[in-house]
Amino acid sequence: MSKSTTEPSRHDVVVIGAGFSGMLLIHRLRDELGYDVKVLERGEDVGGTWFWNRYPGARCDFESEFYSYSDDEIQQEWNWSEKYAAQPEILEYINFVAERWDVRRSIEFDTTVTAAAFDEARDVWVVETDQDSTFEARYLIAATGNLSVPSEPSFPGMETFTGPIHHTGRWPRGGVDFTGQRVAVIGTGSSGIQSIPLIAEQAAELTVFQRTATFTVPAANRPLTDRERQVTKANYPVLREAATHTRAGILGEQPMGSFADVDPVLARGELERRWRTTGLGVTATLNDTLVSEEANAFVAQFVRDKINQIVKDPATAKLLEPHDYPIGTKRLALDTGYYETFNRPNVSLVSIRENPIERFTRNGIVVDDHEHEFDAIVLATGFDAVTGALERIEITGRNGRPLADAWAEGATSYLGLAVHGFPNLFTVTGPGSPAVLTNVVASIEHHVEWIADYLEHLRREGITRTEATAAAQADWVERVAELASHTLYPRAASWYMGVNVPGKPRVFLAYLGGFSTYRTTCSAVAADGYPGFDHAHAVREIADRETERVNA
Ligand code: NAP
Repeated sequence: MSKSTTEPSRHDVVVIGAGFSGMLLIHRLRDELGYDVKVLERGEDVGGTWFWNRYPGARCDFESEFYSYSDDEIQQEWNWSEKYAAQPEILEYINFVAERWDVRRSIEFDTTVTAAAFDEARDVWVVETDQDSTFEARYLIAATGNLSVPSEPSFPGMETFTGPIHHTGRWPRGGVDFTGQRVAVIGTGSSGIQSIPLIAEQAAELTVFQRTATFTVPAANRPLTDRERQVTKANYPVLREAATHTRAGILGEQPMGSFADVDPVLARGELERRWRTTGLGVTATLNDTLVSEEANAFVAQFVRDKINQIVKDPATAKLLEPHDYPIGTKRLALDTGYYETFNRPNVSLVSIRENPIERFTRNGIVVDDHEHEFDAIVLATGFDAVTGALERIEITGRNGRPLADAWAEGATSYLGLAVHGFPNLFTVTGPGSPAVLTNVVASIEHHVEWIADYLEHLRREGITRTEATAAAQADWVERVAELASHTLYPRAASWYMGVNVPGKPRVFLAYLGGFSTYRTTCSAVAADGYPGFDHAHAVREIADRETERVNA
């Protein structure tokens, strides 16, 4: 860790990241509990994911009325225009909240954390940045997001391409005009699926390079009416509370039952209804879609049939049919007119499954010895998810152990909140939590509340150091892996498994027990005095220091 030449800036808490999590941490810890909080943010403004992902078509896939803070005043004042708001509106909302909570005064923007080391003699984290600045705090909270570090494949000859190459996760702030251009999009996950229909409308020609066909269902997005907004606002407390009792942290359609118990004709009718109205509700039609191969095959075939109904060219429809993984085991995408886009005369699909991209050239991309010429290339190639942001920081815990070393065989954590060997470090929506399978804003609120309660407990007890025990962490890691092993999830080469990043260990990164059960577990840990966290060391040190003081 290179030392900065300036005096450290000292705080109670240093937070990395000023997205939904970092902003809420400021509000909760600084404004409501009186901690001195400093947030370090790589971007030039607040927003995290919603600051960087400005590609055309970017929008949330949980209903905006609930993909938002549950703050009483804010949820009464803010009016969402659509069921699933687009990125500019979400960023506008984030800015509205930033003003309301006056968060910017606690944030250092354009500041990338490069290293953080735990000083065992003082129980503080020493945090270094690319601005040659140093911050110290008793607690370090990673609010770094799960999908914040773009995964950018390096194709041979990439540097020779003369046009611009844009990653969806780092879209230029002023936008990109593709009018009249020949454009390539590489990648057909959620980002590709959201952007492809809009790029197709603007570009002269669009070529989509697809390695794996993705299951996507219509978002059925639409404007909200005044009446709908009023009803939600009148009932927010009860709706938010009810959402905490669900598996995904949001109220949605209930399953009809398990595949074996439902009439297939009724199930197909229900799938049809949900296809037209509910977005993600399609995979929740049966309660065993993610554990039973038969149930999964039934739902998957329904979507494949839809593709064949929508896409006019049979060869293109065939290529768009996903066959490589059970539906839902990679994140189901929500789209607006994705399959229909392949009926446009200016759009073509190139499968790179059997014949991967060979190289980039000055003019374009070579596949199967054929050079496709482009003016611009879009990488919709995803993220080094869940662990990527923390692994890019040189984090050193107790006994000088790097986090990269602790996670060499795969990310480990206790409750997705803390890591053994890294005292006083908390991870908001960290690996091993259910966050990526939930309405992430609900998960963020839960974690921030839990961490705040815990810091208060530590403050009351005079404890200066806390650390997840090796045993509690091992139990939790085992529980996360065991739950995954009972499902179809490990069958997919997904970012949930780390498979999308070459060399990343294959470990299922999320807790599958559901948001409600997870909350109950975390509450029980708090109510029982935080078993699984070791305070003994810190208490011993406090006693030693007191003895030294009295003897001096
Ligand atoms: P992604 O789901 O990981 O998709 C990346 C795409 O790029 C895949 O089609 C992948 O193919 C392809 N790809 C990656 N490396 C490649 C290579 N070297 N050569 C060719 N193709 C390559 O990433 P994403 O679309 O950015 O979405 C990530 C997650 O972000 C989503 O699952 C979702 O949770 C979240 N997200 C949400 C929304 C929303 O609706 N609110 C929007 C965007 C993103 P393979 O499948 O073969 O690996």
